[in-house]
Amino acid sequence: MADRDPDCLFCKIVAGEIPSEIVFSNDHVVVFRDANPKAPTHVLAVPRRHVASAADLTDADGDLLAALFGAMRRVAADVGLRGYRIATNVGAEAGQSVFHLHFHLLGGRPMSWPPG
Ligand code: AMP
Repeated sequence: MADRDPDCLFCKIVAGEIPSEIVFSNDHVVVFRDANPKAPTHVLAVPRRHVASAADLTDADGDLLAALFGAMRRVAADVGLRGYRIATNVGAEAGQSVFHLHFHLLGGRPMSWPPG
């Protein structure tokens, strides 16, 4: 898989071609605010490299996952969240609408379980 998919919305956000409110970024990861937030804090953590979903990760992606979770840990701490939820939808049947791996980080309100 190429590092970038020219038709991918989140690749365009990563490249700065579509505006977003970025709250954290480094060489591997960008975290930006969800355009349709479902909680007072709702950000998306994405790899800079195009990966379609969690189903497309490989055993070589351990460092990338550590970078993604490290970025989310840092954002949650900066916001002062005491509890939060991290979720990723895999495939249209699970509700995935953008096919570039992203972890939803939601917080700032009570969470119920199970999700719909
Ligand atoms: P999912 O349905 O799990 O694939 O999540 C995709 C998320 O991307 C949704 O929560 C959308 O609100 C969000 N989203 C779509 N377009 C944008 C955008 N341009 N900027 C920020 N978030 C977006």
